[in-house]
Amino acid sequence: MLNRLVVPRRYDRDVRIDLHTHSNRSDGTDPVPDLVAHARAAGLDVLALTDHDTADGWAEGRTAAEAEAIGFVPGIEISCKVGTTSIHLLAYLADPSYEPLAAELAHVREGRTGRVPGMVERLNRLGIRITVEDVLAQATGTPSVGRPHVADALVALGAVADRKEAFDRFLAEGRPAHVQRYAIEPGRAIELVRAAGGVPVVAHPWGRGSRAVLTADEIGRLVAEHGLAGLEVDHQDHDAADRAALREIAAAHDLIVTGSSDHHGVGKTDHDLGCNTTAPDQFEALLAVAKLNAASSSAVPPEAYLP
Ligand SMILES: [Zn+2]
Ligand SMILES: [Zn+2]
Repeated sequence: MLNRLVVPRRYDRDVRIDLHTHSNRSDGTDPVPDLVAHARAAGLDVLALTDHDTADGWAEGRTAAEAEAIGFVPGIEISCKVGTTSIHLLAYLADPSYEPLAAELAHVREGRTGRVPGMVERLNRLGIRITVEDVLAQATGTPSVGRPHVADALVALGAVADRKEAFDRFLAEGRPAHVQRYAIEPGRAIELVRAAGGVPVVAHPWGRGSRAVLTADEIGRLVAEHGLAGLEVDHQDHDAADRAALREIAAAHDLIVTGSSDHHGVGKTDHDLGCNTTAPDQFEALLAVAKLNAASSSAVPPEAYLP
């Protein structure tokens, strides 16, 4: 039985909790303070910042959240891979300076930035005049330069209409400008997050090709062998049938169920802040698991800010 946490009264009901958003510290378009202000304006009570493979926006996020009197949960969306299939793991309240985790995240970030020249070269061979500088010009203040910035450069050059077309025609797995890169094996990432005192939750488990890999059996294995704590069930990548099936899998393994927007600013349509939310009791369970994992960890995990 998990410890029940004392959650401020206003969080008991009717609270709107969005546990997955991106700023321009990864591939979102909003600077962190703008993202937090938009979250407040969208009527959210709690926001998690989960940029890809970096905790860079946390301090700024916390400061902005205090100014806006909105709850703030520091998170990271970790790039994992099974074979060539990309899996994303949301890590909540993990200590990003915990050495084994920090080393893996650095490796992933280097792999992402390191493939930019390869993608540029392939695009050049396809007759598109694009340079690495064009790509870097699209990445404002992020340590995590990657495909979305190549896509933005292609848009700026007029080669494609939007990011989606850039991915569909050139950058997605199997497309002509795609380059493989380093990512972590999910079981290992889950264990690192727990060791760093955090809570591992699989992001959009059945989105973008990961359905074939993350079967009910495989999810069960990640729980039993590695300590997976939750599934992001309510996400725009999942239709009603997917959500119902994932909810059943979560119930079978006593997993936390989260819901979130995966907001990217104007970088991704149909992902408005608060379009999916996490139920307060599930959020409470997540905080309780964080508390337990923090207690058994040698790391120094951050705390959620809940005004
Ligand atoms: Zn993702
Ligand atoms: Zn995301």
